[in-house]
Amino acid sequence: MFSSSRGTIAPWMITRAAVAFVAVLALSGATQTPAPDRLVAIFVVDGLRPDSINESDTPTIARLRREGAEYTNSHSIFPTVTRLNAATLVTGTYPMHHGIVANSMFVAGVNERAPFDTGDYTQLLKLETPTGRAITTDTLAEILQRNNRRLVTVSSGSTGNGYLLNPAARQGIGVVIHGLFERGVIAAYPKDVSDVILKGYGAPPPDPDDLGQMQWTDNVLREYVLPELRPDVVIDWLGPLDSSQHAHGVGSPEAKDALRRIDESIGRTILKIEALGRLPRTDIIITSDHGFAHHNEGVDLVGRLIAAGLKADRASTDLVVASQSQSLLFYLPPARVEPLVRFLQREPSVDVIFTRGGSGGQGRVSGTFSFDLIGANHESRAANVIATLAWTSDNNPHGVPGAQTVNGTTVGPLAGAASGHGGLNPWVVRNTFVAWGPDIQGPRRFDAPVSLADITPTVLALFGIRTPSGPGRGRVLSESIARDGSTAQVSRRTIETRVGAYSSTIVISSVSGHDYVDTASRAR
Ligand SMILES: [Zn+2]
Repeated sequence: MFSSSRGTIAPWMITRAAVAFVAVLALSGATQTPAPDRLVAIFVVDGLRPDSINESDTPTIARLRREGAEYTNSHSIFPTVTRLNAATLVTGTYPMHHGIVANSMFVAGVNERAPFDTGDYTQLLKLETPTGRAITTDTLAEILQRNNRRLVTVSSGSTGNGYLLNPAARQGIGVVIHGLFERGVIAAYPKDVSDVILKGYGAPPPDPDDLGQMQWTDNVLREYVLPELRPDVVIDWLGPLDSSQHAHGVGSPEAKDALRRIDESIGRTILKIEALGRLPRTDIIITSDHGFAHHNEGVDLVGRLIAAGLKADRASTDLVVASQSQSLLFYLPPARVEPLVRFLQREPSVDVIFTRGGSGGQGRVSGTFSFDLIGANHESRAANVIATLAWTSDNNPHGVPGAQTVNGTTVGPLAGAASGHGGLNPWVVRNTFVAWGPDIQGPRRFDAPVSLADITPTVLALFGIRTPSGPGRGRVLSESIARDGSTAQVSRRTIETRVGAYSSTIVISSVSGHDYVDTASRAR
């Protein structure tokens, strides 16, 4: 039986073995009723660290992990922020292709004076004005549409996050749902879907009621999307754990409560899929966009830049800094890159630095790594320099490891349990990745490296759709697809960069020619 903090949920009637059996019967035509259509259901639990999954807080996710394929070496894409990884999820590519290079990013056509927040979907509409597209490569919705399949996405994260799951829905390609696009006016694209939702379900509670938004969103998913829109692929992005962990830390009572409610909602959605008769042909992916680390030390790097004469003032555009808290993007004329790098290398709080160009993993400026290693070389939206801040594996106040220096206006040791992501420590890079269903091997544990970039190619492969390969693109997870059975050859390497007394290293896992950045740190 499934139980949760809010009561007992009925078990799924169909076990994994029965799912496989029904699938075989369906293929052989031995059943009276036609086989249900294939469904891939992707649940993204924003900020879920895999070490937060257990039988008491997350019985549904724990069951899927126990019965399905568990990837123990999964990666968020750096900078480990939400919208970048949302775009990676729905394109199977790195920022060099999809163009959402960070949560806070600078595009003069959107705002010529300062970075903009990709969490605000009205800013993304502005981003579409100069470039035609918010995401600058093919998306899952578009590829599915060309193959007569449909993606429907729902999100209880930010409006920007919700929009990026399928910007093409404004042109009638698939469906994107977020109750707060314009509260009570626009709940989805295309418009006819929005009208049906607002008529049937009203508006969600206003910000910042994250749990209320999730409840509204998942209700629309269960009562309207699954039975009426009958998608081939559905993405449910669940927001409340992220906000709870930002404020209270991983392992806090508040975070555990949010996680229990999320798990319960996912369980209810799976029960709905079962009630609709689709579970025997449903593959489920549980993932997260990034991990989390405790903010234990503050630094005002922008203030330091001004004091060093490298930036005129906080609002100046001579050097634009887009802070992701645990890492920073710098936009400046190429001639000023080297002086900035030398300054950063002297700053004790700065860890690892990336610059454009270079070769063999080394950046163009000595003592830096190349953007090529992190797939950051977008032709029009790339920053010039990216730097990470220092980290340790110290525990947070709730006994959970992972601590990080954070950029802001508070300097010195930080009190409290506030936490975040965006850096390149293993506690934010490591994300959750579990797959379950008739097309997935299980129970199996895989130590081959995987990332959010691998989901779209793998989902499309389940529908027999091939995707391009090459630099900055994910791979099909052949090793976990039941009918494939291939094995992955895994290797790991460390690259060092050094200049004078400064040196740093980056650790990269590889499989089948695909690289995954595990972590990076500076020698101290
Ligand atoms: Zn997130």
